[in-house]
Amino acid sequence: MSEVAIASRIPLDDYAALLGAGEIDELRVLAKPLKGRSMQMINSTAVGGGVAEILIRLLPLAEELGLNMRWDVMTGGDDFYGVTKSFHNALHGAPYHADPKDFEIFLACNQQNLARLPLDAEFMIIHDPQPAALIEGRKKNGNHWAWRCHIDLSHPNRQVWDFLEKYVARYDASMFSSPEFARELPIPQYLFYPAIDPLSEKNRDLEPELVTQTLARYQIDPLRPILTQISRFDRLKDPVGVIRAYRIVKRYFDCQLVLAGGSASDDPEGAEVLKEVQQEANGEADIHILELPAWAPLEVNALQRASTIVIQKSLREGFGLTVSEALWKKKPVVASAVGGIPVQIIHKHTGLLAHSVEGTAYQIRFLLSHPEIATKLGENGHEHVKENFLITQKLKRYLTLYLAMAHTK
Ligand code: UDP
Repeated sequence: MSEVAIASRIPLDDYAALLGAGEIDELRVLAKPLKGRSMQMINSTAVGGGVAEILIRLLPLAEELGLNMRWDVMTGGDDFYGVTKSFHNALHGAPYHADPKDFEIFLACNQQNLARLPLDAEFMIIHDPQPAALIEGRKKNGNHWAWRCHIDLSHPNRQVWDFLEKYVARYDASMFSSPEFARELPIPQYLFYPAIDPLSEKNRDLEPELVTQTLARYQIDPLRPILTQISRFDRLKDPVGVIRAYRIVKRYFDCQLVLAGGSASDDPEGAEVLKEVQQEANGEADIHILELPAWAPLEVNALQRASTIVIQKSLREGFGLTVSEALWKKKPVVASAVGGIPVQIIHKHTGLLAHSVEGTAYQIRFLLSHPEIATKLGENGHEHVKENFLITQKLKRYLTLYLAMAHTK
């Protein structure tokens, strides 16, 4: 049983039908020696953001394989999430002046969760900085602990990283989404790509009527090009930059922009950023700013499918699951060359990379005037995701890690 409500299970045969029997057979082989052994995931939000998105689908797949995996979410107050959001931005390279009180708030909240959460599974995976200090709860000579970092650590703020590193170094292993995020650590570091579930409500094929109805509900014109960015309203996703790029494109093409985003319970800045976005849009009718509920997978799916081009103009990005989601739907994507995005967007093969507002606008204009190339990029992108970024591969990687950790102690 997991503390968090997880999505419904999808039979393994459905994955085999889509991905081939070999993919599922490999999973079964890896799962066999792990049956009856306990696994636990801990992160800081049950909905919103890429980590929750992955866990929501990973748990039911593990259950389908007969594995005993649970997922717990740490709890914290506004002060804690305020601090961890500054840590998050600082680890992504934003300026930050450490206040000793911040570290106290961080540790006090981790202490409270130490007392609240069971931390006794044989294999513990702790996601991201927020719960990193839970390693204090490790049993002597007991279970195996790994730290999974989903954020871009290529240029971290020194003070925050020096503080976190003391905890991270006590884990048995660490996992990062891109080779560039690896740090100097005394523990093994593994490359772990995030992944999408091709059969989830977010990514499964949709009835065309559902797409049409979604556009009608938001008064989006299906007959003119639709440019879309789906992301939490977060400055690092640069929604204001997206509007600026759209305005350049709009001089040449009569297109529309959709900026859709919900919020995550561990992200306190959303409302403020949304206000900035509304100000920049200035009531323009062809800019659709959609505030989605935190959990609206079918709507996201429909909006991605309805898009002519999907944009991901992040300034920093751990991985950017939205890119894989769009590519899986064979959409041409224009995205920033930051964080884990270039792993997904191979320039001119699976999409187009850009480095600025002007560059983003230029690539969008290019695709709008070369629809045959846009189609080809989308098709290549789909194959690339199928090969590398699906949930079945992700689970295989976890199971391999568990087996490796079990054999090294
Ligand atoms: N997402 C969503 N609704 C929203 C905004 C985002 O369901 O309003 C989903 C999006 O489809 C993706 C995840 O949240 O699955 C975001 O993951 P990503 O890695 O792109 O960014 P993060 O939010 O983790 O920085």
